[in-house]
Amino acid sequence: MAKNKVCNFCGRNEYQAGLLITGQNGVQICLNCIEASHKMVQEELKRAYSGIKNSSDIPKPKEIKDFLDLYVIGQDAAKKFLSVAVYNHYKRVAQRTDIDDVEIEKSNIIMVGATGTGKTLLAKTIAKRLNVPFTIVDATVLTEAGYVGEDIESILTRLLQAANYDVKAAETGIVFIDEIDKIARKGDNPSITRDVSGEGVQQGLLKLLEGAVVNVPPQGGRKHPEQPLTPINTQNILFICGGAFDGIERKIANRLNTNVVGFHTKKEFQFDRNNLMQYIAPQDLKSFGLIPEIIGRLPVLTYLEPLDRIALRKILTEPKNSIIKQYIKLFEIDGVTLTFDENVLEYIVDKAIEYKLGARGLRSIVETMMTDAMFEVPSEQDKSSLNITLDYAKERIEQVSQRMRA
Ligand code: ADP
Repeated sequence: MAKNKVCNFCGRNEYQAGLLITGQNGVQICLNCIEASHKMVQEELKRAYSGIKNSSDIPKPKEIKDFLDLYVIGQDAAKKFLSVAVYNHYKRVAQRTDIDDVEIEKSNIIMVGATGTGKTLLAKTIAKRLNVPFTIVDATVLTEAGYVGEDIESILTRLLQAANYDVKAAETGIVFIDEIDKIARKGDNPSITRDVSGEGVQQGLLKLLEGAVVNVPPQGGRKHPEQPLTPINTQNILFICGGAFDGIERKIANRLNTNVVGFHTKKEFQFDRNNLMQYIAPQDLKSFGLIPEIIGRLPVLTYLEPLDRIALRKILTEPKNSIIKQYIKLFEIDGVTLTFDENVLEYIVDKAIEYKLGARGLRSIVETMMTDAMFEVPSEQDKSSLNITLDYAKERIEQVSQRMRA
């Protein structure tokens, strides 16, 4: 009988509660209780950025590397450096400074490597593994306070937003600063004139990297000048910087050559001229235009290798959420089994190399190739499979290439 229907959570009957939803074994829940539960779940998720509380929560470097291997192809050197640096960083965060007399210093990271080789992906994947708030900022939009562009503090505003305004969580988060090479000063000498976008920004960044307490406008800077500021301690925030540093190989080669001249008597060190990036050292960053104070605050320096054919081919299908797996999933939702001939995958790689887009190009090429099918297939009632052949792929891609050339 209707009057026996009550919410098993709050006890309200059907008339008081409005809609009651019945589950298995006849249990009931009212809309109020669903909403309240939803809020609790949201709160819990916010708290889920528990991050790292004690050292037993910290994954070991090998576990971090194994996790990175699931998502990122190659880049073994960078993965190793990152895994160790991140492990040490969070050990430091969990350290009881009140009883330990050796204080571990913070080790921010800098990754050097061509665009589209996986720098952002590595940083993002690490944050995912550690379940800490994460944000990406582009160094090129940052300017000194008072100039057009974003203030340095906006970096922390974004991290705070990523942490759902949980200050404690934000204070152990990870910030990825992309294109750090674009704020290099123009020459090797300190500038005489004011260098709005370069050295001044580097000076501004220093206070974040050093671990100062910074007053942050929680809604972002300029539009809401009246808002109260939130103090954020950056001491336990891990900063990972990335940049392509175009042309830095020349500086590395110069340094290596100079060094070799100085050691006539020793057997000459044979370096691999095809991959000079592996010899990168802090001096090269200085020659490129980063100020020594910034370099000093980024003690972990690692490099990414250019992606060759084999790596690009693997990126298409091997990572846990590879581009091809994503498209297969998209079609699966419509009940369609999507397959690709092997030579199509090779063709996609050829095109990415031809367009000089690296891994970044793979997605746009596959997107171009699949747009017509994604438009038509959902309306085709009996369609249960779709195989992409080389002819099909070529036709789609050539159409677009021609348009781009025209
Ligand atoms: P970067 O930050 O070095 O410019 P990204 O990490 O943003 O490059 O990479 C761009 C895209 O290319 C990513 O979304 C990812 O799908 C893909 N990608 C790049 N490098 C790799 C890699 N080593 N393994 C897997 N995917 C990669």
